[in-house]
Amino acid sequence: MPEGDTIRRLADRISERFGGQPCTRCVTRDPRLVGLDLSGDVLVEADAVGKHLFLRFASPDGTRRTVHAHLLMDGRFVVGPASKEHTWRRRLELWFADGRLTGLDVPLLRVVPTDREHELIDHLGPDLCGPVAPDPSEVAERLRRDPEVPLAGALLDQRNVAGFGNVYAVELPFIVGVSPNQPVGSVIGLDGLLAIGTPMIRQHAAKGPRNTTGKRLATPDHFVYGHQSCPVCASLLRHWNDRDSPWGRISSWCPQCQRVDPTRSVDLIRARRLLGLHPVRRDPMFPRVSADP
Ligand SMILES: [Zn+2]
Repeated sequence: MPEGDTIRRLADRISERFGGQPCTRCVTRDPRLVGLDLSGDVLVEADAVGKHLFLRFASPDGTRRTVHAHLLMDGRFVVGPASKEHTWRRRLELWFADGRLTGLDVPLLRVVPTDREHELIDHLGPDLCGPVAPDPSEVAERLRRDPEVPLAGALLDQRNVAGFGNVYAVELPFIVGVSPNQPVGSVIGLDGLLAIGTPMIRQHAAKGPRNTTGKRLATPDHFVYGHQSCPVCASLLRHWNDRDSPWGRISSWCPQCQRVDPTRSVDLIRARRLLGLHPVRRDPMFPRVSADP
């Protein structure tokens, strides 16, 4: 499921492969794109803000327009080879000299003048995978604007900060020993969680795949997301399904390591131990603890 790091990597791949090339043929199968013909336009670049993807085009007469896509849960893009999926799933197909770009099952597609792109993202908080990493203290402040909201709900609210998806909303609370259900206003040291989550998602954006444990396995690895027992204390995990969850997404947590207390501190020593193999430990933003030299 696409999170900010996935969309950043996708935008970079599209720019590398097709940036500067004219679109030679354009087929759309989405009611919001009726009449759109990008053939003859040059793909200037692809860009990402949070989970939003922008394909910026320039036409020979100087018109600048942007295809805006949001993949939500199921959408994806195929970059390069022709897609073999059924025609009706290919909502947008663009041909370039260097291959084809196909938007499959993309639920949200539209075209806007490039100079009005910002209207689609003005409501978003700072972009975790943007050119400059947002300041963890500033993001913590935004998360605490509604102190009663559960931690996971605050992390997922893109108006607070743009880019975290559900894997991070499950894994980051576990790493620092705080429940995803803990009201965000009662989390002490919230900026420490963000000083781990920010470089982690940026590293995954620069070099995927997303792997929160840092263990070098063939497949992406997580501590509790998709698991049944706690890797620290072996307790059976508790779960929300997406219907019962107060923030509408599945969640998992350890009832021992992540108790909900009146106030609860981010445990940086636990985080350092759990992330011993993760390259995020070497990031200058990663929080130091008093035991450090
Ligand atoms: Zn546990």
